[in-house]
Amino acid sequence: ASLVALARRLVECRACPRLVDWREQVAREKRASFADETYWGRPVPGWGDPTPRILIVGLAPAAHGANRTGRVFTGDRSGDWLFASLHRVGLAAIPTSTHPDDGQRLVETRMVAAVRCAPPQNKPTTIERDTCAPWLDEELAIVLPHVRVVVALGGFGWTAALTALGRAGVDVPAPRPRFGHGAEVTLGELSLLGCYHPSQQNTFTGRLTEPMLDEVLGRATRLARM
Ligand code: SF4
Repeated sequence: ASLVALARRLVECRACPRLVDWREQVAREKRASFADETYWGRPVPGWGDPTPRILIVGLAPAAHGANRTGRVFTGDRSGDWLFASLHRVGLAAIPTSTHPDDGQRLVETRMVAAVRCAPPQNKPTTIERDTCAPWLDEELAIVLPHVRVVVALGGFGWTAALTALGRAGVDVPAPRPRFGHGAEVTLGELSLLGCYHPSQQNTFTGRLTEPMLDEVLGRATRLARM
C-alpha cells in the first residue's frame, strides 16, 4: 500500500451523501473573495512527510480552506495558526500555507483530517465520522512504523486518533485517556499529545494562544527526536 495510491482512491470517495452535497455546493457557490478560483471540492488526503515522526490529526477540511485548495489546513485561519507555529518550532519550511504550490514543506511531520470532506458547520455526524474512519486507519497503517508522536487537535481529533491507533494494534488503555490541552499519554513507543484545535472559536477567544500551541508542538518535536 502506498500513500499515493491511497490518495488516488480517497479523492473518488462519495460515501457520505450529505458531505458530498456540501463540499460540491460550496465549491460551486464559492466565497466572493475566492470567486476566481477553482475549488477542490473533494476529499482531502493527508499531506506532508511520507515517513513522518509526527502525525497531526485534525477534524475536517474547512469549507473555504482545504475544500478550496485541496491541501489539508491550507488557505484557512486554523492553518494560519498551525503553520506559523510549526515554522516557529522548526517543523515547517515557511510560516504560511496558502496554496499547494506555495513552497511549503513539512519537516518530519504529516497532517491528516479525521474526516476527509468539509462538513456543514465543521460538524460531521457520528455516522460520517465512522464512515470516514477507515481512510485514517489505512493512512495510519502505512505511516505508523515511522511515527513517534501523534498530536491530536481538539477532542474530535483525539478520539479519532485513539480509535485509529487501537485498530492499528497500539495498546490503548481502558478507560481511554481524556483529552485536554497539553495532555500527554505514552502508548508503548508512541506519545499522544492533546492540543486545543486552532479554530477561530479557540483563537479569537484566547482559549488557545500562540505560546500554548508552540508549547505542544515544541514538546512533540523534542519527543520525536529523542
Ligand atoms: Fe468519503 Fe470520508 Fe468524504 Fe465520507 S467524509 S465521502 S467517507 S472521504
